[in-house]
Amino acid sequence: MQEFDIAIIGAGIGGASLAAMLAGGVPGRRILLAERESFPGYHTTGRSAALYSVLYGNSTVCTLTAASRAFFMDPPPGFADHPLLTPRGVLYITDDPQSDAVREIRESAIRTGATALEMSPRAALDMVPILHPGPLRGALWEADAMDMDVHAIHQGFLRRAKAGGVELRTDAALTGAGWDGSAWTLSFADGPVRAKKLVNAAGAWADELARMAGVPTVGLMPLRRTAMMLDPPPGFDIHRWPAVIDAGGSFYFKPDAGMILASPADETPSPPCDAQADEMDIAICVDRVQASADLPVRRVSRSWAGLRSFVADRSPVVGAPASHPSFFWFAAQGGYGIQMAPALARVGASLLDHGVLPADIADAGVSVADLSPDRCKGE
Ligand SMILES: Cc1cc2nc3c(=O)[nH]c(=O)nc-3n(C[C@H](O)[C@H](O)[C@H](O)COP(=O)(O)OP(=O)(O)OC[C@H]3O[C@@H](n4cnc5c(N)ncnc54)[C@H](O)[C@@H]3O)c2cc1C
Repeated sequence: MQEFDIAIIGAGIGGASLAAMLAGGVPGRRILLAERESFPGYHTTGRSAALYSVLYGNSTVCTLTAASRAFFMDPPPGFADHPLLTPRGVLYITDDPQSDAVREIRESAIRTGATALEMSPRAALDMVPILHPGPLRGALWEADAMDMDVHAIHQGFLRRAKAGGVELRTDAALTGAGWDGSAWTLSFADGPVRAKKLVNAAGAWADELARMAGVPTVGLMPLRRTAMMLDPPPGFDIHRWPAVIDAGGSFYFKPDAGMILASPADETPSPPCDAQADEMDIAICVDRVQASADLPVRRVSRSWAGLRSFVADRSPVVGAPASHPSFFWFAAQGGYGIQMAPALARVGASLLDHGVLPADIADAGVSVADLSPDRCKGE
């Protein structure tokens, strides 16, 4: 039976980035990265809106996103042959500048050192002229928000992992996991393998994987989110428009390859599955966007959905539970798994190898307890 030191299950952005950070760290270490699908980005990783905003998410997420910027701006040699981030900017719009949601965005800016410029409705309209002036009472401008090349980021991590000796297996669904006191026996269709540590990077399936391994679950909630491509409004050059996000969380849209990518920012509970866009969510999206902007919609050229998986406090789950030190969680990446991937992967690698956080992340105010599976309530 083949033996590994670490087996990572799931090769989306979570598993791929962690494998890349672990690769080459300890000479001779054997790491398996196993993915059920033929293509590692098939599920949530391949379905994102590809936006990097330091002001999006709770304080832990914002800190990890800010800590990822340096890697994206200056990745290791050979990681990608073109920039991973390109300027976009985000305009957070609101009909209530005193709301909690707007206050939280301002607080995130202070905490992360990002700039969130208060902008008048007039200035916001100058930037995105199709916005309806009626409901627009205020805006915050995050000039440093970026578009991400998610495919290049994901492939860069996979390439780096393989170059560092990680064995990537696709079409490799884990179907059973048993701990005998010294190693895991992991069942795959082409035969079992043994591994000293099992890493759960299974995205929406992470609680299912824990159940399979006999480990307490974390109360993971996969929430479906829909996105779609709409024709651009006639007569406008949209290329330099920023992403427009309703601060209250009811929709967003942004230019994407000459089209408008829009989402109703839906969060519909779902079992882990190959999520599909629902006609009703598409209609709701069109309705919400049109309530705030003059965007004629003749057709929806493409729509899709993916599962954003959260635990109750909306921070990621990284670490081993005290009861099962050989089972390591790397899950609950919510709607931020791409933008915080470099920092979160460093966190995961440091916790696995040394049991502590990287100094810069700890100095920025994130603690081991903030990420620990032991803070979560599962079954
Ligand atoms: C519409 C939408 C918009 C988004 N926009 C953004 C954004 O703008 N910015 C951002 O940063 N994030 C965004 N996200 C969130 C981001 O896409 C996720 O946080 C991230 O992709 C999660 O990565 P993951 O590796 O945890 O999950 P996944 O990509 O789902 O990977 C998990 C993998 O585990 C595999 N797996 C599961 N069980 C097993 C098993 N038993 N054996 C083997 N393999 C298994 C699955 O096949 C899957 O490939 C968005 C998500 C959606 C849906």
